[in-house]
Amino acid sequence: MDVKTNNQQEVLIDKFNRIVDYVRISVTDRCDFRCVYCMDDEMQFVPRAQLLTLEEISKIAQAFTELGVKRIRITGGEPLIRRNVIQLFEDIGQLPGLDELVLTTNGSQLTKLAQPLKDAGVKRINISLDSLDAEKFKNITRVGELDKVIAGIDAAIAVGFEKIKLNTVILKNRNHDEVIDLVRYASDQGMDISFIEEMPLGVIGDHDRAEVFYSSDEIKNDLEKAFTLVPTTETTGGPSKYYKLTETGTRVGFISPHSHNFCELCNRVRLTCEGRLLLCLGQEHSVDLRKTLRSYPGDMEKLKQAIRDSMLIKPKGHDFNLTEKPIIFRHMNVTGG
Ligand code: SAM
Ligand code: SF4
Repeated sequence: MDVKTNNQQEVLIDKFNRIVDYVRISVTDRCDFRCVYCMDDEMQFVPRAQLLTLEEISKIAQAFTELGVKRIRITGGEPLIRRNVIQLFEDIGQLPGLDELVLTTNGSQLTKLAQPLKDAGVKRINISLDSLDAEKFKNITRVGELDKVIAGIDAAIAVGFEKIKLNTVILKNRNHDEVIDLVRYASDQGMDISFIEEMPLGVIGDHDRAEVFYSSDEIKNDLEKAFTLVPTTETTGGPSKYYKLTETGTRVGFISPHSHNFCELCNRVRLTCEGRLLLCLGQEHSVDLRKTLRSYPGDMEKLKQAIRDSMLIKPKGHDFNLTEKPIIFRHMNVTGG
């Protein structure tokens, strides 16, 4: 069995000997934005009856922590638009064995939710921000208001999270000319920033993903015109490669699924809002945890066994290819980035 005991604490190990101690949970596939790389113009969302309830999500989180998971990230869609989501943060925040409860958000709800999130035990948050220009921001998010997000970032800074990181997807001729400004903004506010290469998840009509590809190396070259980037060995347990700016001490990360594949270090799995446990971002291997939960209500052992068994089908890695049609039809809002 791909699970072993280590000082009495069970851990999840896949068949390539990778320890899985990190789960990303998508609590909704809905969102108040429509980012062009994430969603298509017209989207079909999961009918509410098919969503996991918040109690079911908590149960799954508990099962994972009992299996050695140390970090849980709440994501979506936009997680903060799910009704009563703060209750979920409070419940998961109290699970024994969990080192970190973190969040990825587009920032639109943070003016009202930053404090309740901090109170629930969230220490680090990632906020997505692709442009500092209101018009470009609207163009990329289709409907997002930059002012609201900047106010959300200010609110998050004011409540004093341990760490705030910006996540930025760079698209050629859309926002690639803003990389220096975005890093300056992050530095001025005492935040880190990670640049993410666009991934071919789901069919989108807005642009040809290969045409707008702007690699991490190009971004790094651009940044080197204004800053000195020193490689660090630091990790946040994710696929980011980090550099430190000599000038400001800011940490700049690059998530490069195309130019620098990171699968051999993969330590994570993802839960969709319907209860599908995805074993890889770029493959369809999954198990239906909602079925297990609803077939055996209250049976924690059955749930844990389904999770243990899933380790047998975690694939070696993704096969992203920008020039072919997407092989993954799931959009990022379903996957939970
Ligand atoms: N709505 C929240 C947000 O935007 O932060 C959380 C969910 S969103 C799917 C999580 C992250 O995935 C965001 O930083 C977003 O920029 C990124 N993302 C979405 N679609 C992507 C894609 N096709 N390729 C790379 N990153 C993507
Ligand atoms: Fe919504 Fe986040 Fe997707 Fe943008 S990236 S559409 S904010 S889920």
